[in-house]
Amino acid sequence: MNLINKKWCKNILVFVTFLIGLITIPSVQTFAGEGTPDWGYGGAANPTQWAELSHDFALCELGRDQSPINIVSAVKEKPTPIFFNYKPTPLVVVNNGHTLQVNYAPGSTITINGEKYTLLQFHFHTPSEHTIGGKAAAMELHLVHRNDAGQLSVVGIMMKEGAANRLINEIWKYIPAVGETKTVSRTINAATFLPKTKTYFSYPGSLTTPPCSEGVRWNVLVEPITVSKEEISIFQKLYQVNARPIQPVNGRVIELHSK
Ligand SMILES: [Zn+2]
Repeated sequence: MNLINKKWCKNILVFVTFLIGLITIPSVQTFAGEGTPDWGYGGAANPTQWAELSHDFALCELGRDQSPINIVSAVKEKPTPIFFNYKPTPLVVVNNGHTLQVNYAPGSTITINGEKYTLLQFHFHTPSEHTIGGKAAAMELHLVHRNDAGQLSVVGIMMKEGAANRLINEIWKYIPAVGETKTVSRTINAATFLPKTKTYFSYPGSLTTPPCSEGVRWNVLVEPITVSKEEISIFQKLYQVNARPIQPVNGRVIELHSK
């Protein structure tokens, strides 16, 4: 091959590399796959930009009943207890690129006011998304439930730094790579997470991630559980911050349910 041909080949290679770059860079950075825009907590796709990423995410900006919120004052209503009926489930850990999530087998429920909701999954945020009296906890656990009518009810539990949490310790042993799921041949029970006192705040809110759908019943337990510094740092090595900023209350009534 003479010098001219070599130079020509090199130019073609540079041009092809440029074309591949044009084709792949936007699809990798903007889309997580199947046309779902990728959103995040920092950079160009941070929470203030979610509504700009897709028409489907409009509620993230236009919604009036958004979550999370800062819980400052609450109305003490006739207490409506949450009845927890959590059963063991095979441990299935998902690292979905936004959080670590544990999928739950059907059959575990909560009942509020006679309405039964099935536990679908639980996942984590750091720092906590809700704040109580302006204070955030190190992490927040969200137990996501759905009733037969398709309505969601989420139980939020504050996780403050303190003694190690044996269930977290167990789950953290099986963290999969981003985009992957790990199924482990052992069972866990989300009931292990529940604090002694089940006093809670409730309010009507939304998903705290796109598409920010409203009509979600939020139940934030007052009593926190603990998680060790090491356990927090393991999560934060994967997700340094994955909490949506607090949203305006817009006149919503927050109820306190205690015995
Ligand atoms: Zn959540």
